[in-house]
Amino acid sequence: MTKWVYGFGGGSADGDASMKNLLGGKGANLAEMSSLGLPVPPGFTITTEVCTYYYGHGEAYPADLQAQVAEALAKVEGVVGKTFGSVENPLLVSVRSGARASMPGMMDTVLNLGLNDETVEGLAKLSGDRRFAYDSYRRFITMYSNVVLGLGHDHFEEVLDEHKERLGVSVDTELTAENWEKIVADYKALVERELGKPFPQDPHAQLWGAVGAVFESWMNDRAKFYRRMHDIPESWGTAVNVQSMVFGNMGETSATGVAFTRNPSTGENKLYGEFLINAQGEDVVAGIRTPQSLTKAGREEMGETALSMEEAMPVVFGQFVEVVGRLESHYRDMQDIEFTVEQGRLWMLQTRNGKRTAKSALKIAVDLAAEGVISKEEGISRVEPAALDQLLHPTLDPKAERKIITTGLPASPGAATGKIVFDADEAERAAQNGDAVILVRDETSPEDIHGMHAARGIVTARGGMTSHAAVVARGMGRPCVSGAGDIRIDDKAGTFTVRGRVFKAGEIITIDGGKGEVLEGAVAMIEPELTGDFQTLMGWADEVRRLKVRANAETPLDAKTARGFGAEGIGLCRTEHMFFDDTRIAAVREMILADNEAGRRAALAKIAPFQKSDFVELFTIMSGLPVTVRLLDPPLHEFIPHTEAEMDALAASQGLDAEKLKHRAKDLQETNPMLGHRGCRLGVAYPEIYEMQVRAVLEAALEVKKTLGVAPIPEIMHPLVALGLEMKYLRELTDNTAKAVFEEAGDSVDYLVGTMVELPRAALRAGDLAEHAEFFSFGTNDLTQTTFGISRDDSGRFLQVYMDKGIFENDPFVRLDQNGVGDLIRIAEERGHATKPGMKMGICGEHGGDPSSIAFCEEVGLDYVSCSPYRVPIARLAAAQAALVAKSGIAREKDR
Ligand code: PEP
Ligand code: MG
Repeated sequence: MTKWVYGFGGGSADGDASMKNLLGGKGANLAEMSSLGLPVPPGFTITTEVCTYYYGHGEAYPADLQAQVAEALAKVEGVVGKTFGSVENPLLVSVRSGARASMPGMMDTVLNLGLNDETVEGLAKLSGDRRFAYDSYRRFITMYSNVVLGLGHDHFEEVLDEHKERLGVSVDTELTAENWEKIVADYKALVERELGKPFPQDPHAQLWGAVGAVFESWMNDRAKFYRRMHDIPESWGTAVNVQSMVFGNMGETSATGVAFTRNPSTGENKLYGEFLINAQGEDVVAGIRTPQSLTKAGREEMGETALSMEEAMPVVFGQFVEVVGRLESHYRDMQDIEFTVEQGRLWMLQTRNGKRTAKSALKIAVDLAAEGVISKEEGISRVEPAALDQLLHPTLDPKAERKIITTGLPASPGAATGKIVFDADEAERAAQNGDAVILVRDETSPEDIHGMHAARGIVTARGGMTSHAAVVARGMGRPCVSGAGDIRIDDKAGTFTVRGRVFKAGEIITIDGGKGEVLEGAVAMIEPELTGDFQTLMGWADEVRRLKVRANAETPLDAKTARGFGAEGIGLCRTEHMFFDDTRIAAVREMILADNEAGRRAALAKIAPFQKSDFVELFTIMSGLPVTVRLLDPPLHEFIPHTEAEMDALAASQGLDAEKLKHRAKDLQETNPMLGHRGCRLGVAYPEIYEMQVRAVLEAALEVKKTLGVAPIPEIMHPLVALGLEMKYLRELTDNTAKAVFEEAGDSVDYLVGTMVELPRAALRAGDLAEHAEFFSFGTNDLTQTTFGISRDDSGRFLQVYMDKGIFENDPFVRLDQNGVGDLIRIAEERGHATKPGMKMGICGEHGGDPSSIAFCEEVGLDYVSCSPYRVPIARLAAAQAALVAKSGIAREKDR
């Protein structure tokens, strides 16, 4: 019999922290905390396998699930000493989602389940607090209606506001038991009116309704979006946790809060968090009331007047500090903790490895290794490579003038400039049009996640450091200022006002998420300094990685940036990109449009000096490191002038006959330029082009050898080769040109001749190519295009549909298709090495900077990856993590 349900609480548990795949993160950690003897309200977890079953069987449950749930519920009743559905002594439960990887706020939660018109009276008697009982009931009706019955919060807000207005009160805490009772009656009437049936009174029906809703929420839009963004497979499913309720809303000795064992923004080793007295969990994260600091130091730092938990509840705080210390030592990582104090008694509701900014991740990893808690290798595995991106981009220039509009909390560090938008959809639209935007909201909710992702930065008027906006922004690496309380948004007018000053949608603002400032206009930025923890961790990564990391670069600026980021050479210098400059492109166009060899040679003679001087510069910057020069591969349509006017201008500037030129341009038009006369086909048809380039490369190398005294290491690479005989022809062309250059110069340099592997035939016949090539570089952009038969230029129109329908889990141009394209790479590696053992192989398609694709390159045993300069540090770290997995099985947290 399959065990679908795992119990926990009362000092023991069926599961433990290693069972995340089955129990989800929350369930596994609740079980672990119970076994550690920490105060955890008893409950049970319905496994992720039930979720998989549910979606695999037309949304039905396994036959024996009901019996297992009944048994687990009975156990909880035994431990708590209350009965689910009992009028005198009712057990209430929470029902929450809990996937393998945490997806904060993406799925649904129901609290206070089990309340109905009778049990609410029982709860009132039992607690001796009628107001509390009805407050809990109204919360339950709102949440359940929203999550399970699909009736929006706003309906309930309206009713509540009417009551408050009539009673002349402004905050919820002023409402009495009688007020809540009336509100509850109105809520129930509202549900019946809107949905045509009464609010469900049977606690068991409520329970199954909530369980179903949690499983359903695995497939809601925001969960899907979050999974896509964080690479969480749909097949993982979520677990459901049913747990006995403890109440933070039972008066002034009750509270609820969240804490991080270290600062999630900076990594500083100090307990950090927020709490609210007389409140339930959702109040803290929802940003409805602004919470108070946990510690006295935190309160003083924030300049708050309301007492911290340390001051207001010193005894429970002492216990709490001890528990969180134990949790951090036990998990050996910074913990993100939820807790409740019920009438002076501490309860732990959740612990998990906390989300953190890149800066904080680096500091925590380096500090924990220094404290001896983890090894250097584990430190390396603790930082998500893609997150480093946050550190590589500019910050505000400290010398620049700052005109502060307002300040809020420094919720997520980093600087961003953009146009004001007030709506998540609008943010997404604007970003798609290439606009940088700052999303300004009263508060954010999970519905806004796509807009937060599209925005450069986020500002909220309400909410604390652990509000939805703050947590999600930190996770995404978006700068965020939260709780900027002076901001008044007028959605209808499309404006926000700060102390009388009006700012319109579309106006440019800048935010400093590290300081919590919202600033006027665009503020100057400076390049980041990569020192301290960054250098330390990268040093460790370099010690363990096997894969070399090179950069795709052709300009001196890119090459310098790449070296600064630690590139060990250039893996792809796209020579056609060296001609984008106005003065140069004319000569290239002239060459392409020439209809005879003499015309081409004349144009080539104009190009040759640029080529040579560019290579001199690149070789000088990359002194002593390999530089792979990819010979011309211009998709012709990118280079031919399109309009009559452009054509006339070209003719005039080059002294050519305009009519003849237009005629030739027409001849060259291709229906399918991506599969047309590009790559080495150009070199085979017009060998003088490649001869000029080879000559420029080698003459430059000889010159640099002379001036620097160090010989450059040129690797001459031929694009889009498919046939052994093509490669033979190109190899001879290259060697003959080299021979001539060296003879003329009376000097020589070592060079390699190789090919890109970017066509399926090239991969399949890699053995033939290897006979004439000294290295392979996998051009996975074209290899993906040609393997799938999907055009790189046109795929945008339908890829999204494929991803939405789950046919593609990821865009194959971003993440290597390890099965299909990957098979071709495996085959090419095997067949290439069979012909030429030890020949060098690398990757230079976009995938060379994608961490999961890098892991694949490690598995296949490639020698290097090459990626854009800003991704070099990411690739260094990803390569180290891949090497660690290969060597010792240390996997990154998320992948475990
Ligand atoms: C490739 O095809 O992967 C490649 C690197 O070449 P390009 O993107 O220039 O076609
Ligand atoms: Mg290519």
